[in-house]
Amino acid sequence: MTAQESLPAGSTPSKSTSSSSTAAPSSTTPPLHVVVVGAGIGGLLAAIGLRFDGHAVVVLDQATAFGEVGAGMRIPPNSFKLLHRWGIDLTYMKKTYSNGNRFLRFDDGAVIADMPHGIPEWDFGGSYLMVHRADYHAVLLDKARASGVEIRGNSRVDGYDWDAPAAILSDGSRVTGDLLVVADGVQSKAREAFQGHSLPPVDTGDISYRVLVPGQDMLADPDMRDLVSQPWVSSWCGPDAHVIGYPVRGGEIYNVVFCVSESTMNDQKLAEGETKLVIADNAELVDRFSKWEPRVRKLAALAGKGFLKWRLYDLEMVDHWAHPSGKAVLLGDASHPMLPYMASGAAMACEDAAVLRKALQGATPATLREAIKTYERVRQPRASALQRWGRQLQAAYHLPDGPQQEERDAAMKEDKEGNPIYWGFDDRRKWLFGHDAEAF
Ligand SMILES: Cc1cc2nc3c(=O)[nH]c(=O)nc-3n(C[C@H](O)[C@H](O)[C@H](O)COP(=O)(O)OP(=O)(O)OC[C@H]3O[C@@H](n4cnc5c(N)ncnc54)[C@H](O)[C@@H]3O)c2cc1C
Repeated sequence: MTAQESLPAGSTPSKSTSSSSTAAPSSTTPPLHVVVVGAGIGGLLAAIGLRFDGHAVVVLDQATAFGEVGAGMRIPPNSFKLLHRWGIDLTYMKKTYSNGNRFLRFDDGAVIADMPHGIPEWDFGGSYLMVHRADYHAVLLDKARASGVEIRGNSRVDGYDWDAPAAILSDGSRVTGDLLVVADGVQSKAREAFQGHSLPPVDTGDISYRVLVPGQDMLADPDMRDLVSQPWVSSWCGPDAHVIGYPVRGGEIYNVVFCVSESTMNDQKLAEGETKLVIADNAELVDRFSKWEPRVRKLAALAGKGFLKWRLYDLEMVDHWAHPSGKAVLLGDASHPMLPYMASGAAMACEDAAVLRKALQGATPATLREAIKTYERVRQPRASALQRWGRQLQAAYHLPDGPQQEERDAAMKEDKEGNPIYWGFDDRRKWLFGHDAEAF
């Protein structure tokens, strides 16, 4: 049954968001009452998918408003095909179709290797898009609301009762359901309770600056024009740093991420425990990239004021995604924090949502434990593989000039397993982009 068949847009489930698992079962599949913590991309996709199957879903988020949060991101074919199948229409969202990945030297901008996507719709069953996160998030919010998901902002979850199960809000009130889906991001406060021990994400040693440059400024400059008009994901690789740039919103904006080993920065430091910081001006970026090729220097100069610096965290594996109570799961970055270098964190959250949705089809409160174990078993190995690949790319991108870098550059030109870049080997591309999360 497709999403559209199972739930016409705008219809609503039985209205309770706090009813218990003792609700009378219907004659067919009894719906579950699901409480989702976190209205990020992962939480919203889980909410949408579960709502499509008739479950009653409430989403809680600490944010008081949802707006222009985030910067550019990529939607690869493995998530695009799920969105398309679920009727999440990206037609009217401003977007850019990606040519593929282009790798360049940091000092003179020479192309090391091109890794084109070809025709991803043909090869992998979905497009490869470059978008603004805020636009994508807005589409998901609209879809969730139109499908009858209740979204409550200004609802910070400060604790849990795993056996009820219930999320406990900062004002002490409880939101109870049959299942908790905890999608509270990389710094998840709930992760520890799933593992039975503390499991904070690991500081990868890298920080990233996410910068948005007006496309028109670049189109007006003959040196920069092609970066916007030829929509590659350009990755300049240099010692202890790499810079990734690509156009979004059809070229209205050029998204740039400067990724740097923090130890090489002479900068305004993030405080202990602080994960992101608004940078008042671009002086530290201009300084750090002063020896890079002219286009990178121009991008640093165009960064202007008021952008975000992030400390990047990951984990190799989160052992338990299903809570021992059998009534809660982790989803998205909470379950698989990874370096953004594979551009796949949100895509993995999308796959999580699809697998969770399918695993819960036909589940009742009595069979939940088994269903969420299926979700964990299916999702964990794939997400963990990408977590590890994020680290491998970190090492490959940040090599200093020398024999290892020369070997890397030569290997990057070959479609072989030894290619150090994930997308440089066709079998791996097929494994990542050709995957259908609902086929299990
Ligand atoms: C520089 C960079 C570039 C990236 N590029 C890409 C890309 O190109 N493609 C891609 O697929 N991924 C990319 N990612 C990763 C992607 O952004 C994340 O994987 C994805 O957004 C995670 O979604 P999430 O829903 O799991 O978590 P989040 O988006 O972090 O959402 C968590 C939500 O939970 C809420 N929350 C947290 N705690 C509480 C609480 N106690 N109570 C209530 N609410 C709470 C937060 O307010 C937030 O709304 C990138 C990441 C970075 C840093």
